[in-house]
Amino acid sequence: MVNEQAALEHAEAELADAALMVHTPPAGEQTGRPAVHGAVVDDATRCVHYNGPTDIVAIKFRCCGRFYPCFQCHADAEQHPPARWAPAEWAEHGILCGACGRTLSIDEYRAVSGCPACGSAFNDGCRLHAHLYFEVPPAAG
Ligand SMILES: [Zn+2]
Ligand SMILES: [Zn+2]
Ligand SMILES: [Zn+2]
Repeated sequence: MVNEQAALEHAEAELADAALMVHTPPAGEQTGRPAVHGAVVDDATRCVHYNGPTDIVAIKFRCCGRFYPCFQCHADAEQHPPARWAPAEWAEHGILCGACGRTLSIDEYRAVSGCPACGSAFNDGCRLHAHLYFEVPPAAG
């Protein structure tokens, strides 16, 4: 019994070690940065519709799970209507910072005015469009 318990603990320790090591992206894959679809015009996810200095965020659409720079890009590329994230789902990492390639949860994104990882400012005007992506209360913002 004692040996069994020790073996189990040993196995668990090895699992923990393995978990620490899987952070390296598999060969052939880039940084794990999700692909951004639509009419993207540069590496920072700017698109033909929104390409100002701070238009660097791509949003994952709930309907298809694809990242697009904006709702217009989604409308142009997809045949289905966009689905929005309900507040209960805002822990989803549905926001991509085009500057550094990190993802943010929707909750996180709605609480900041720039990327917590690289410090790039996000377009404040995007807040006006929040209802297109997230189920926000009509009076918000
Ligand atoms: Zn979609
Ligand atoms: Zn667009
Ligand atoms: Zn960033």
